[in-house]
Amino acid sequence: RLRGGCVSSRPVGGSTRGLHQYICAPYNEKPMKNQPGVCGLDNSGNSCYLNAVLQCLCSTVPLVEYLLQPDTRKDISVSAAWLRCLCVSWSRCGWAEWLAVPPLPQFNNHLQQDAQELLMYCINALHDDLKKICRRQQKRGGLRSDSTVVSRLFEGRLSGVTLCLHCDHQAHNSQPFTILSLPIPTDLISCSIQDCLSLFFQQSVLSGGVVCSECGLRRETAVVTYLDKLPDILILHLKRFGCKGRSQVKLRTNVEFSTETLDLSPFLSSSVFSSDGASYSLYAVVNHIGHLHMGHYTALCHNTVTQTWHCFDDSEVRPVEGVRVQSPHAYILLYSRQPFLKPQIQGL
Ligand SMILES: [Zn+2]
Repeated sequence: RLRGGCVSSRPVGGSTRGLHQYICAPYNEKPMKNQPGVCGLDNSGNSCYLNAVLQCLCSTVPLVEYLLQPDTRKDISVSAAWLRCLCVSWSRCGWAEWLAVPPLPQFNNHLQQDAQELLMYCINALHDDLKKICRRQQKRGGLRSDSTVVSRLFEGRLSGVTLCLHCDHQAHNSQPFTILSLPIPTDLISCSIQDCLSLFFQQSVLSGGVVCSECGLRRETAVVTYLDKLPDILILHLKRFGCKGRSQVKLRTNVEFSTETLDLSPFLSSSVFSSDGASYSLYAVVNHIGHLHMGHYTALCHNTVTQTWHCFDDSEVRPVEGVRVQSPHAYILLYSRQPFLKPQIQGL
């Protein structure tokens, strides 16, 4: 967990100012105006974690297009608060009046929060909400399915193989995922995102053992995980948590990544035939600066209309050069399998 929720978008502290200079265009530049989807969000007191997550969701073009269809808009309730944010962001441009904290129970307080937990919550809440709408529509059409735009975009599947090292019996299992939480090699100052992925997918041996269905006894077991189904939108979460002696610390490893391509083919299950390829491009990043229990969140998002990157620091929005998107502050990375097209939004 990396808690964050600074009151001010520009704390006087050295590290934040340093971050501005690191990733942002000249400090005194005017905020972006009249660009669809480029809109700062006011901080309601501690909501930088929320703002950063919302900016990333607002940059997920297929999701935005779906949610802003007139039919969907009139039906959504739980997600109404951030739907409003989408409307403002993609229609009026400029500054959003974003003072109300949305009705997310466990986040509706003045504590600092973890952006990954919030993102997971938003995705699940939106999926549940849309499921209800789909069921209502399906009742009329006689169909039945729990698939929503959220599961179609964000859901991938992992398959695991466990191998009994005594009798070679193999057992298979598979599970869906929406966010992959990647470990970071602890003893390095710098590594690549591929190193984190390799660490996640590498074979491990459970020395405590697992009960083998063939032997009927607890045996030493090897476990290996593959990607069974690639999601359209891939979310990678860097587990920046480590231990120093007895205390927990934030891992400040510089995890290097490219905005151009991320290739997942080394981690694909051999049964997956991927005609579309397994390559992704980055479109949004949540950054965290500060410590494990206190910090500030910002977002870097790519805009499909202007084809440029912006840094969203609560109400501050600034253009950022693509080469400066990579930084040691990256905490959550959002990738798209297909490049986003200009959004087709009706009625705004
Ligand atoms: Zn066995």
